[in-house]
Amino acid sequence: MIEENRAPWQPTWSAGEAAGGMPYNAVSGKGYSGANALYLSMAKVLNGYADDRWLTFKQAQDLGANIRKGERGTTLPKWLELAEKDGAQDKGSDKNDDKKQKRMVPILFTVFNADQCEGLAPAPQRKQLTEMERHEQCEKLLADSGVEIVYAGTQPCYIPGWDRIIVPKREDFAKIDLFYSVALHELGHASGHKSRLDRDLSGKFGSESYAREELNAEIFSFMVGQRLQIGHDGAQHAAYLQHWVKIVRDDPKAILTACRNAEKMCDFLGIAKYEHEATPKVERTQEQANAHTATHDQERVVAIPANARPVPARQRGQDRAQDFGMAM
Ligand SMILES: [Zn+2]
Repeated sequence: MIEENRAPWQPTWSAGEAAGGMPYNAVSGKGYSGANALYLSMAKVLNGYADDRWLTFKQAQDLGANIRKGERGTTLPKWLELAEKDGAQDKGSDKNDDKKQKRMVPILFTVFNADQCEGLAPAPQRKQLTEMERHEQCEKLLADSGVEIVYAGTQPCYIPGWDRIIVPKREDFAKIDLFYSVALHELGHASGHKSRLDRDLSGKFGSESYAREELNAEIFSFMVGQRLQIGHDGAQHAAYLQHWVKIVRDDPKAILTACRNAEKMCDFLGIAKYEHEATPKVERTQEQANAHTATHDQERVVAIPANARPVPARQRGQDRAQDFGMAM
């Protein structure tokens, strides 16, 4: 998708509008995080789905719905953290606890888009924050960060050497939401200061490390726009697209890394994960339930090697398959 001069985080929407494209689980209402969120956003666009809800085969049944016959799911990894002890197995020893190693183990699971279901209740409306609520929470995030903000000039930026954000005055923006969107983008960069998450902020404009940090911050901005309901202007950083194409060509895992960084940035700055109202259950007769039980493979849960990557079960055409391979 990036090579076609469009990136999955590029859609633009205004503050207070439903943020189209944020994938969430129909049962829990929780947004998918990191690369899975980006991956499902792409799957939605590439397959022409209109719904942002995703669910497993069993979850569809639990909600009184079923997956349409012949539909194929999208496979994602879920990373589980396993603690492993190195060496002797002494119990209760602090020394031994120090030797504990954490190992991330990917488990594959398959989800379907709500558009692939029949009998599923419509998605409830997401509770929309008022303008005052939106702005209060943005203001609090900026204040809680402790990063100094200077309101001046016309070009927003973050200066790592001074650990300072420069941003034009509120009244210079067409909308206050846009001011917060820009200020929080710069706060995203500030989260990488060596006293915080310590990312490489040394790159000069046009360098690869600069473009990588812009990729972190842009995916972060996309998440912030959805989570805080302040909207997102995907065209703002379109100039970086060609840099990102090169980065992703040279390092196919670059987007995965940027998604992880963006999630870390949200966690560090106290930006809560995306939440949506859960889909209500539809009661159906036993006869209706039995009619669809045998039409699909059950949800697949298998361990996969650590270096594996998710493969979409549903690919329409070679170009789209390349899109997926490219973007992960
Ligand atoms: Zn930036």
